[in-house]
Amino acid sequence: MHPLADVAESLNLPRRQLRRMLDGCRITDGKNFALKDHDPADTAGHLFDHPQADALLAASVQRLSTLQELLYAQDRWSLLCIFQAMDAAGKDGTIKHVMSGVNPQGVQVSSFKVPGPEDLAHDFLWRCTRVLPERGRIGIFNRSYYEEVLVVRVHPELLERQRLPPELAGKKLWDHRLEAIADFEGYLARQGTIVLKFFLNISKEEQRKRFLARLEQPNKNWKFSPADIRERAFWGDYQTAFEQAIAATGAPHAPWFVVPADHKWFAHLVVGVAIIEALETLDLKYPELAAEEHAKLQEARQQLESEA
Ligand code: ATP
Ligand code: MG
Repeated sequence: MHPLADVAESLNLPRRQLRRMLDGCRITDGKNFALKDHDPADTAGHLFDHPQADALLAASVQRLSTLQELLYAQDRWSLLCIFQAMDAAGKDGTIKHVMSGVNPQGVQVSSFKVPGPEDLAHDFLWRCTRVLPERGRIGIFNRSYYEEVLVVRVHPELLERQRLPPELAGKKLWDHRLEAIADFEGYLARQGTIVLKFFLNISKEEQRKRFLARLEQPNKNWKFSPADIRERAFWGDYQTAFEQAIAATGAPHAPWFVVPADHKWFAHLVVGVAIIEALETLDLKYPELAAEEHAKLQEARQQLESEA
């Protein structure tokens, strides 16, 4: 079956519309990549209307649940989804929504915060490699090793805590890190890990509105951190760092999706459909039993039936 055929069919929607939505934000080659070409408020309005999108969201949650079961049963591939974004872009909500139908036993979510002493005593990939998804599992990284070419690049003073030998901390450091990440993701792909990277692309104005909502609504106060406002002042530097990271590491085997994130429902839709497409491309199947295993099932069945 073609990727996305199931979800498209259930809504009477041409499959190519879903493909087109993904093609608009999928980066597999950084050569001509520019963030300014990606509108954070895009909702692919010409492709479907809002009620269709709601139905599509529900269908994609269901489909993902089935695919995850197949992934687990087949036990060959694993899937790693990396989420990166400015604060308040909706990483948590997107992860929660997209994974809402999936068996929790098949999913491992890891959130990467400011590194601690043990992390800092190792190479920068270390803490992420320890929690990579096993075969058959879905791993979700809420932030990741990309922080090493984002927040650390925007605030290079953070490097001091990493205690790199000075002769290795030269001007080429960021290029080397990006190269290391690209190589690492190539390695993962060759090991049977599907790597999908999502940049939730929120506009500065939408971030302002969401921060204000966090300040105004008591049940959102806990989400606000004064550090978020401090980082907002570095908006331009972050955009440049994101642009360079995406350009250097977008590849067919480890695509970036620049997800328009000003409208949460649309971000959820793009992420859900992208994961479904990637899993369906694998053509997952339940494992087939060998003849002698079938015979054992038959035996077990006879035994149970004879007890009645
Ligand atoms: P939320 O705010 O929604 O709870 P969050 O992912 O923003 O989630 P925080 O605890 O607010 O979590 O922030 C984590 C912080 O850790 C971010 O500012 C991020 O840039 C920082 N961080 C993550 N990885 C690294 C790293 N390798 N080096 C330095 N800082 C990092
Ligand atoms: Mg935060």
